[in-house]
Amino acid sequence: MRLDLQEIIYTPDAQKTFQFQLDLSDLDFYGYKPVTHPILVQGSVTNHAGALVLEGTMETQLDLVCDRCGKEFSRKKVVKLDSLVAQELEDEENDDILLLEGTELDLDQAASEAFVLAMDTKNLCSDDCKGLCAKCGANLNLGPCGCKPEVDPRLAALAQLLDNDAE
Ligand SMILES: [Zn+2]
Ligand SMILES: [Zn+2]
Repeated sequence: MRLDLQEIIYTPDAQKTFQFQLDLSDLDFYGYKPVTHPILVQGSVTNHAGALVLEGTMETQLDLVCDRCGKEFSRKKVVKLDSLVAQELEDEENDDILLLEGTELDLDQAASEAFVLAMDTKNLCSDDCKGLCAKCGANLNLGPCGCKPEVDPRLAALAQLLDNDAE
């Protein structure tokens, strides 16, 4: 959606609110399309002493795949929107500022970019997911698989050394 800020650009303390749904179901993230549900975007742009401030939240349910065990799971995702909005860049180095096109703010683009940047690069079904056994592929969250634990050859050598010392 595009938000026309005409009526608040030059009016201190004026505020314009918005609410819309964003569809990012085609967004490909590491071979998956996790944004299966529409994203509810709501917030406001406020004129704080001449500076336009965009604040809001984006909320949706993501369908993810655990990086460790491969299980599919859903997780609520909330992303905050918080940016300055301006008609032109006064400071070229500050590219966090969202530029207006005329008096309009392209909220679809601003929200999409903020959402993509907030996506996690790793997704685990739970923080203590035990993953899959490297030997037999069993899901270790369901219990031990019966494979013998792999012994680090260095530790085995060390154990032998200590054993010999004790004799
Ligand atoms: Zn997992
Ligand atoms: Zn195993």
